[in-house]
Formats: sequence, structure tokens, C-alpha cells
Amino acid sequence: MEEAEVFAKLSQLQEDLTVRFALEDEIVKLPRDLKVKQELLDKINLEYIDEHAHSEAAKDDLRSLRIQYDDAVHARENSEKQMELISTQREFEALEKEIKDAAAKEQNLLKQLHVKEKQVHEFGDRLTEKEQLMILQKQEVDNEASKIEALLSEKRNQLSKLETKCVQYITGDITEDLYNKFCNIVKNKKGKGIVPIHGLVCQGCHIVLPIQFVNDVRSAKDIEFCPYCSRILYYEEVEGADEQFRKRIEDVEIEEGGLSDFVDSSEFDDLL
Ligand SMILES: [Zn+2]
Repeated sequence: MEEAEVFAKLSQLQEDLTVRFALEDEIVKLPRDLKVKQELLDKINLEYIDEHAHSEAAKDDLRSLRIQYDDAVHARENSEKQMELISTQREFEALEKEIKDAAAKEQNLLKQLHVKEKQVHEFGDRLTEKEQLMILQKQEVDNEASKIEALLSEKRNQLSKLETKCVQYITGDITEDLYNKFCNIVKNKKGKGIVPIHGLVCQGCHIVLPIQFVNDVRSAKDIEFCPYCSRILYYEEVEGADEQFRKRIEDVEIEEGGLSDFVDSSEFDDLL
């Protein structure tokens, strides 16, 4: 396989991988909305259970108040009947007080009864409201769940096709090892796993690379990785950049040449 062909294939693979990783991401994220809706439904359910317990307690209170009230009414009526049997003033006064007390108790209970009736009624209204809310929320959860399920199976289908497609890139110079490495680079470098060098500069991380290294990339004999950002590199001719590249080579040759003129290499022996 020609090196240019390998680079072209890697670029294609990069496109497929980008779509693949986006799909994988979506598949993870999709059920999150549903989870939020389900949590809200659970919360409404709990509130309903709580409200229902309070409502039942209020109904019990109301029943007990009604019994007490009926008893109070009977007590007053009995006392009133006894009035006909009274013969002395003292008995009359005692009975009159009894009737007054019974009537006061009756009125007090009646007041409590009305308050409790109102409370039971309000609980009933709130429970109905919550029931409707629960039905709506449950519908929403069910709708969302079936929508997400359909979407998920569609995405999983696309993903499995893409996975099959991507693996088919493993052939010739694109070994399994290179494929795995490249997948990781594309994933970690946000979809950019193969980048050009312009002049001496890696277009992935914009760091100036050593001339000898750039020469190796230009010769395109092996797959080279940027020593700084680990992306796969290829050389791309661009206006101006090539000139800059040549100028750097000349500068280095002058520097190196100049150095050998002035410094005896044996002077470095101690250091090496
Ligand atoms: Zn780089």
C-alpha cells in the first residue's frame, strides 16, 4: 500500500470513527432524560402516598367527631325530656345547667365537625389533583420510554454497522495494532487523529518539530506519530511553509558547519 493511500484510508477511518464515537455517546446519554422524568413520577407517587395517609387520618377524626356530636345531641335531648319530670326549683336549676353545658358541648363539637369536614374535602381535592398529575406523568414516562427504546435500537443498529465497517480498515499497512492506536488517538483528540505538518509545524498541537523528524515524515516510509500530541503525521505542501522549511535546514547546516570550524570535537569528550 502506498503511504498516500494509507493516509487517505486513515482519514476515511477517522470520519467513520468520529460518527461511531458520537453514536456511542448518544447511546449513553439518551436514557438520562427518561431517568429525570421517572424520578419526578416517583416523587409525585411518594407525595400521593403521604397525602393519602393524612386524608385517611382526617376521615377517621371526622367519624369520631360525628359520634361524639351525636352523643352530645342525645345527652341534651335527654336532659330536656327530664324537664317534664322536675318538681323542685333546685332540680330545675341543676337540670337547666346540665342542658346549657350539653348545648355548649354540642355547639363546640359542631364547630370542630365543620372544620374537619372542610379539611377532608380539601384533602380529597388535592388527592384528585395528584392522581391526575400522576396519570399525566406516567403517560409521559411511558411515551418517552418507548420513544427512547425505538431510538436506541436504531442507534445500536447504526453503531453495529459502523463497527463492522471500521474493522474492515484493518488490512495491509493498517495493522490491528495501528488501528487500535489510531482509534484511541481519534477518541482522545476529539476526532483529529491524523494531521498534516506545514513547514515544521504539527497542525495538531502547533509545536515546531525537529527537522530530521520532519524529513522522515516527508519521506513517508513509515507511519510517524507527533512526539508531542501523538497524532499521526503526513507532510502537506503549503505556500510559504515549504520555504520556511528549507530556510530552517539551511540555518541548521550553517550552524552545524560553523560549530565544527570553531570547536574541536575532542573538547566535548569529557561531556559525552
Ligand atoms: Zn503534534
